[in-house]
Amino acid sequence: MSYCHIHHYSPATKQCPECHQPICAACEQHGGTFDGKWVCPSCMKAYCDQVPQWKEDKTRNIIFLAVSVVLVISAIISAIVSDGYWGATFLCGLAGLPILAKVKGLGGIFKGAGKGNTAEDMIANGCLVIGLGVIIIFIFAAIVAPINIIILAVNIATLSKKISTAGAAAPGMTQYMSDAGAENQRGDIIAHQQAAERAREEQRQSQERADAQRAEVERQRQERAALAAARSAPREELCTLTLVDAGPSGPYRQNIIKELKKHTDFHLDTLSNGMELAAGIPVKKADEIEKALQALGARVERKRAFNSY
Ligand SMILES: [Zn+2]
Ligand SMILES: [Zn+2]
Repeated sequence: MSYCHIHHYSPATKQCPECHQPICAACEQHGGTFDGKWVCPSCMKAYCDQVPQWKEDKTRNIIFLAVSVVLVISAIISAIVSDGYWGATFLCGLAGLPILAKVKGLGGIFKGAGKGNTAEDMIANGCLVIGLGVIIIFIFAAIVAPINIIILAVNIATLSKKISTAGAAAPGMTQYMSDAGAENQRGDIIAHQQAAERAREEQRQSQERADAQRAEVERQRQERAALAAARSAPREELCTLTLVDAGPSGPYRQNIIKELKKHTDFHLDTLSNGMELAAGIPVKKADEIEKALQALGARVERKRAFNSY
């Protein structure tokens, strides 16, 4: 989407036919007609800014016009009151000189000045060519003097029209453009704030991602450490306990059975030599049982067993 070149935060609705820049709906309403053509507010403002220069141009043109008119009238009077026309040609020519000054290649009239074989020839030639050149130019100038007066008059009229159109629009345009500038500034501040907010939010999110990543790395590290610890932990030695001699028969054996039931999952009510009392029990526990049974007159044998992992 393109935005108005005057209101940087308003969507563009059309293009200025003069500067071809995009403008918004408000600018479409606030443009103006200049020299028969609709232009956008910024183009109009540019014209308004030229008013002082045009006023200067107009004043200069008026002075030229006045001088030219005076010269031409003087020439006419001179032609009427005197016999010769050279004076009149000279005066009228003065009025026409400014327009001739704009004609390119007029200096060609003086070509050949100062040429010749001897110094005298050259001076004579120079004087002749320059003299003739000046006369020719003044005759031309006298002829175009009325044209110059017309051109000056047209210039003055054109400048007056421009000055009045742009001058009338100037206060409104200045206000409109300065309002637009203020609006852009407010928009810039808001955009700046939003950008800062976005940057902060992005930083917060990336911080969160980094934290999560660190937590995940830590979790994996702990998992690995736990696994390594489990692998390197000393294996608990297990053993099997077998009854070698149940000792004398009678109530002793009931005591032995009671003792066994206390320490193991033994569930029989009789004992026989060679029977397995407990399997896969830790060595420490086997020590305890062995001691207790010995105290009751029984003898047991221990066999080492391998644990499951
Ligand atoms: Zn424009
Ligand atoms: Zn606009």
